[in-house]
Amino acid sequence: MHGVPYRMDHRAPNGRFRNPWPAASRHRFGDFLRWRRQRFLNPPPPPPPAGALPSATPNFASPRADTGVLTATWVGHSTVLVQMGGLNILTDPIWSNRASPLQAVGPRRIVPPAMPLASLPPLDFVLLSHNHYDHLDAGTVRALASRQPDALWMAPLGLQPLLHRFGVQRVAESDWWQERAVGDARIASTPAQHFSARHLADARRTLWCGWSVRVAGHALWFAGDTAYHPEFGAIGERFGPFDLSLIPIGAYEPRWFMRPVHMNPEESVQAFLDANTPAGREDQGIMLGLHWGTFLLADEPWDEPPARTRAAWNAAGLPAQNLWILQHGETRRAATS
Ligand code: ZN
Ligand code: ZN
Repeated sequence: MHGVPYRMDHRAPNGRFRNPWPAASRHRFGDFLRWRRQRFLNPPPPPPPAGALPSATPNFASPRADTGVLTATWVGHSTVLVQMGGLNILTDPIWSNRASPLQAVGPRRIVPPAMPLASLPPLDFVLLSHNHYDHLDAGTVRALASRQPDALWMAPLGLQPLLHRFGVQRVAESDWWQERAVGDARIASTPAQHFSARHLADARRTLWCGWSVRVAGHALWFAGDTAYHPEFGAIGERFGPFDLSLIPIGAYEPRWFMRPVHMNPEESVQAFLDANTPAGREDQGIMLGLHWGTFLLADEPWDEPPARTRAAWNAAGLPAQNLWILQHGETRRAATS
């Protein structure tokens, strides 16, 4: 598998999952406490002033776009509605006010969802990256499950029982690299360096991943939540190049704590290059930056992720119009043939 000889199994002997790359150090609970204490002694930058993050009105096709059309609508955080090859695909849906098990505490949304959940077009696929609260939200899953029972939820290993409990009827679990044909689409789970947990006792019991979807001559990659790791190039070789890459760009400071789980903007652009360069098509692919400007989860200034991503993008000599930093709710259409 693409010259990564030191790769371990991502299933640990104790039955939990792990990141298989040697550089992927693991957090201890003491690290979390140390970070929270630092934040208490030295508070993170303030949230954006009112109006600093304006929302746009979505402009996706309803119920479906034509087969040749590729659009993305950023709902917020890692939630994106992609219309591609005539399909409607939603990533990591969260419409709730807080990314938390309790709606009374936990990170609060700073920008409301750009459209009501009820206005979504009929969904073919929901792509889930992992079980953290900002990516798998119980209230949102329940609401979607009852409104859109026909959607197929693509989930990493171990999440099916929770999704069924939340009312989802159609779930397909995948291991990393596993690819399946669903109708005209081919959907594959791609490796990510991250972890999972919904409470103190279930750490790494379910898997984390990204997704590749190919249909009607288009290719999409949703990177999930991930640190920088050595197999983005292998993802590109196997499933790329991608017309659209959805890549997280936020929640990366302080590096000593966040590096094992989240990329900084320079790493995000490098991941885009790794996944698109094998076919020499990196100048044609679009990168859409996710995981910023919605829930302030880490210590960088709220407006730093897009600025640093743009700087890294330009430094790499990539076409400016192919980096999409969208407003909440904005729909953008790729210039496809
Ligand atoms: Zn996460
Ligand atoms: Zn996240």
